Amino acid sequence: MQTTAAYLQAPWQFELRSVELPDAPPPGEILVRVDACGVCGTDLSAAISGAGGWQAFGHEVAGTILKVGHGVAHLKEGQSVALETSSFCGHCDLCRDGRVDLCNKGPNFWGRPAMGFSRHMLVPACCAVPYEGLTPDVASLAEPAGVAFDMVKTAGLRLGDRVAVIGPGPIALMAIPMLLRSGAVEVTCIGRPHSGRRLETARELGAEVMAVAGRPEELPELQKRFDQVLVTAPVESIPGALSLLAYGGVLTYIGIGTGDPKITFDANDFHFRKLQLRASFASPAVYFPAVLDLLKRGILPGPKLISHRFPLGEIAAAMTVSRDDKANTVKVVVVN
Ligand SMILES: [Zn+2]
Ligand SMILES: [Zn+2]
Repeated sequence: MQTTAAYLQAPWQFELRSVELPDAPPPGEILVRVDACGVCGTDLSAAISGAGGWQAFGHEVAGTILKVGHGVAHLKEGQSVALETSSFCGHCDLCRDGRVDLCNKGPNFWGRPAMGFSRHMLVPACCAVPYEGLTPDVASLAEPAGVAFDMVKTAGLRLGDRVAVIGPGPIALMAIPMLLRSGAVEVTCIGRPHSGRRLETARELGAEVMAVAGRPEELPELQKRFDQVLVTAPVESIPGALSLLAYGGVLTYIGIGTGDPKITFDANDFHFRKLQLRASFASPAVYFPAVLDLLKRGILPGPKLISHRFPLGEIAAAMTVSRDDKANTVKVVVVN
């Protein structure tokens, strides 16, 4: 069958292509009609500076199952599903020891000829998580919400923690309600003065907000104030963010540096103040049932987080607004 898929190539080129998919899904796979797919910072990085030539893209997907391949017994045609970008294998030692979150041997749909910004795609059946009671644009938030969930889980809050979130992007915003329900007595979201709508959304989600023009660590009132600091800002924010931690504090970082990823910090201060530095990397993408439930209950208010919707034919415009108008965009979703 023929379908349409968006392709990108750095720097900043986009193309809609006609792509041939098999008429029947291979064993263990499903054919999905894409209903919605969110634009992610990873897509922007790939379009700005990514290597490797033309590639299909889009990985925050909600769709409808059109056909199931041989051997797929747990899903059926017509079901609405959110897609995990990668799953776990279920067979390796890590999986058998109960650490499926650490398994990197599972099936995924990266590198396929039609990804999330397309009309149809083929995916491994184990990546599909059924949902009901949500619109597809909101269901497409499950993937980034799972990333936020992983970050909050990795941080490991205690009741009474004072928490700072640095960088008010969609992941940080989605983390705010989760932090407030995980024991935080206060969440302070720190952003740039130009991050208008994003900080406004952070406030609506229950955070105190601070617009800081310089570096947060230069503000004396923020020094050693937080038990937990979550950094979703560029890697060079980490050393300064460590100084915001109170004695025994934990810094959790998520991100892939596009510049020089090397940083330095005072290891003696780190040692004597008993600080911790943790990495969150939500691959495999787990926790979908939990975040779909948070979306359904409105604890994660999906409609408030989606600022723009575009049709697939306007993928270039969807990408451009995400890159150029950070003040007014929260989540941009392409809907079919
Ligand atoms: Zn993403
Ligand atoms: Zn495994």
